Amino acid sequence: MRRIGVLTSGGDAPGMNAAIRAVVRYAIYRNIEVLGIKKGYKGLIENDIKHMDLSSVADIIHRGGTILGTDRCEEFKTEEGFNKALDNIRYRDIDGIIVIGGDGSFQGARKLSLAGIPTIGIPGTIDNDLAYTEYTLGFNTALNTILDSISKIRDTSSSHERTNIIEVMGRNCGDLALYSGLAGGAEVVIIPEAPIDMDTICETIMRGKARGKKHSIIMLAEGSGNAYELKDAITNKFDVNIRCTVLGYIQRGGTPSAYDRLLGSRLGAKGAELLVGGTGNVVLGTKDNVIFNMDIDEALKIEKQFDYEAYELTKILSM
Ligand code: ADP
Repeated sequence: MRRIGVLTSGGDAPGMNAAIRAVVRYAIYRNIEVLGIKKGYKGLIENDIKHMDLSSVADIIHRGGTILGTDRCEEFKTEEGFNKALDNIRYRDIDGIIVIGGDGSFQGARKLSLAGIPTIGIPGTIDNDLAYTEYTLGFNTALNTILDSISKIRDTSSSHERTNIIEVMGRNCGDLALYSGLAGGAEVVIIPEAPIDMDTICETIMRGKARGKKHSIIMLAEGSGNAYELKDAITNKFDVNIRCTVLGYIQRGGTPSAYDRLLGSRLGAKGAELLVGGTGNVVLGTKDNVIFNMDIDEALKIEKQFDYEAYELTKILSM
């Protein structure tokens, strides 16, 4: 292998830059040339590809987002788009590719591998929705961003004796709401994995008020509804002062946490090491803080286990 490519695809996540930096620097350390592919699979189709040297990744380890840009590229899913991408890969003499993204991006990586281009996936998404790995790149930073917001909202809501609904990202996976709820002392956590009825929500809030709680926090994953509709549903049932905060894209940005910088650096270097050694069609993950690799098809088949223990703990600890 003489030349590899690296791209970021799907939603951006803090720590992607640390991973890009590690891919580039590790590969150069092994005398391999690295090409940066811009805006995910779109860059492959449009031949928007640039040579990366040591200084091209200088001063990025602390930055959120991705210096390569990212996109959702429907054209890559079509035969015509995919073939254009293959032509450009061959034209640029790219021997293997590292894809940093989520499960959709891994589907693309799988197809490239099947077409004879060794490809390695690095899990990059704030949602932590890839079942085969304990943590995805960006999740830890997003969690800390949410916690910071919860702390700020707590200050003001206890002064005003309010209940707050905080809506966070997570369409199918409630990890951001669950773990920020546990770490932030939320009274109620509403996530796709554990549907909850309105009576239980209202009883929990009322019980807290009766005990003299000055405020309460309801964490809501976007996949479980809308903060303002939930507010209406609760206030239709009983008289309570509720405010809504929809955190939105603030969760995707920001300087990556120490954890995500370390994870990105380790995943990036391991990805480059494996690719340079001829391995392809695998994704990287962590278990007990050790990095492992797994066949892409196997990894994508694994279903996410719900952390029932953490969910129950939020209820017990917010009594
Ligand atoms: P994520 O990687 O964060 O899950 P998406 O699901 O939006 O994000 O996927 C990112 C990109 O990966 C898509 O825009 C597309 O270019 C590519 N992709 C997704 N699914 C497939 C697929 N089945 N085949 C080929 N490419 C795909």
